[in-house]
Amino acid sequence: MTSYRLMMLGAPGAGKGTQAKRLAEELSIPHVSTGDMLREAKRKGTEMGKKAAEYMNAGDLVPDEVVIGIVKDRLAEEDAAGGFVLDGFPRTIPQAEALEKMGLELDRVIEVAVTDEEVVSRLSGRMSCPSCGAVYHQEASPPKEENVCDQCGHEGLIVREDDQPEAIKQRLESYHRQTAPLIDFYRDRGVLASVEGVGSMDDVTASILEKVKA
Ligand code: AMP
Repeated sequence: MTSYRLMMLGAPGAGKGTQAKRLAEELSIPHVSTGDMLREAKRKGTEMGKKAAEYMNAGDLVPDEVVIGIVKDRLAEEDAAGGFVLDGFPRTIPQAEALEKMGLELDRVIEVAVTDEEVVSRLSGRMSCPSCGAVYHQEASPPKEENVCDQCGHEGLIVREDDQPEAIKQRLESYHRQTAPLIDFYRDRGVLASVEGVGSMDDVTASILEKVKA
């Protein structure tokens, strides 16, 4: 494969964000996460950020036209010309169709598969830094110093509103109803590859790289 237009697909908490970052670094292409971009807009308090926050806090998807606009602008930037790793986009069939209309057909879509039970246990222990957005897990990946962000030194980690139990349920439900149909969409296009999102982080990264380079 010469071009790397990639997408990570998976339930919330499947580990796709971490894996997408690693993959982008390995291949020297940008990591494009709509969740990160929306949280950034929310932190800055822009009009779009405020609007998006209402949906995000409830565990609902932000309307397609908002997200499509953000991604279109981001992928038009120069650093994305040689490829990119999309993380959290597309999340609906209309978003996937919009991406194709931009003339950006994906070369490989990696599904990171985990069970619903695993998702709930992972998201339930998640803590985030309200200052820089870094994510930790009480058991799996706690910060070096309790309650202090390793990345920026901010004191006082929080449980994001969208990681509260009711929102977790809602996010899983949105995943099954709106995002999981993309598995068949990309299988039909012949670009889908699946990996199990369990085991060590390094093993999952290795399986993903193998699928991308196959
Ligand atoms: P994530 O960090 O990818 O789990 O995204 C966090 C939240 O941002 C999601 O629960 C949605 O509310 C919103 N979001 C992120 N990406 C999208 C997308 N492609 N379409 C709609 N909403 C999105």
